[in-house]
Amino acid sequence: MNGILIKGSEALESAQKVTTVVFDKTGTLTVGRPEVTALRLLVRMPKVDEFNSALKRLIALIGMTEANSDHPIAMSVEAYARTALGMTKDASFGGRVKEFNSEAGMGVSARITAEALTAFLSTLEEKEKEEPKFLKSVSSGSFLEKAEEGRFTLDPSSTIEDPAEMSVLIGNRKLLRVAGIAIEPEVNREMASLESSGETVFLVAVNGAVLALLSVADTLRPEAPLVVYTLRKKLGLQVILLTGDNAASAYAVARKVGIRRVFAEVLPTHKVEKVRELQGNGGVVAMVGDGINDSPALAQADVGMAIANGTDVAIEAADVVLIHVSLPFWEFRFLFCCLPFSFLGQ
Ligand code: ADP
Ligand code: MG
Repeated sequence: MNGILIKGSEALESAQKVTTVVFDKTGTLTVGRPEVTALRLLVRMPKVDEFNSALKRLIALIGMTEANSDHPIAMSVEAYARTALGMTKDASFGGRVKEFNSEAGMGVSARITAEALTAFLSTLEEKEKEEPKFLKSVSSGSFLEKAEEGRFTLDPSSTIEDPAEMSVLIGNRKLLRVAGIAIEPEVNREMASLESSGETVFLVAVNGAVLALLSVADTLRPEAPLVVYTLRKKLGLQVILLTGDNAASAYAVARKVGIRRVFAEVLPTHKVEKVRELQGNGGVVAMVGDGINDSPALAQADVGMAIANGTDVAIEAADVVLIHVSLPFWEFRFLFCCLPFSFLGQ
């Protein structure tokens, strides 16, 4: 179905007065189905090309943790882990973790006992020796930390045993900072180089040791540059990108779609503040989002627009629901500038 659902006439009225259009990034300017492009190991692991038990255990921990989150990033990581582990359709990561926590705008964490990990691994079918395809995405980072005692180790030759309980943290720099885990400059550089191409990079830490980085790439909606161009050049509106993602990745996406103003690394709770700020400067603000974390901002905006693949909460919060598989180019023209007649006349 294609179309537009407007709740209340004020939304239509405000839309004609809009001065500023704020876009969420993930799921709005991008399709919102990121895919894992790289898993880089940051600890010593001599035989990476062997899909050995250490790598399998690490990917299992990652999958078991992310399976509890419904963030688009989590879905992509879970799908990656499922393929990596050769899981069948009916196989599940199950609710095997303790104290799962989702930190909005930062990432996820959980505690997993060695017992639970072993129990999960025993549900996997033994695969023949052939090298799994996904291993192409696995590489060693330039910085390799030495495995230390009492920590989950990736070194298969190590005699160190995994601790009885593992605390898994998967998320961005902020998540690690809050947990008091330092990020080596080499790791930071490695993250930055992937981020500069627009990818979203985050880290996996187990018991305080940063073991791996994961990078995901999302596809731009092909019509996004045209929508931004029309809003800026034809309708003379200010267009802003507002995202929780890091600045390098946000600017890379902004550049690709033609947006000049970027607010990056904005926590979900602060997105609403940003909208208020723009309104305070006399702006009439339209916010376009998919609602994963941005419902309050959608509600605060003079016109909140939810993309229909967004969540129910977003649809609840929005004044306008765009039932569309793509960014609503024609609807934007209709809403922000002209009367329905001219829209129909196009
Ligand atoms: P956006 O504004 O792009 O929708 P979010 O505020 O939802 O972004 O998330 C911001 C950042 O937090 C992500 O780019 C990612 O680095 C991190 N993050 C959020 N959820 C997860 C997760 N489940 N796993 C790993 N990282 C995550
Ligand atoms: Mg989002």
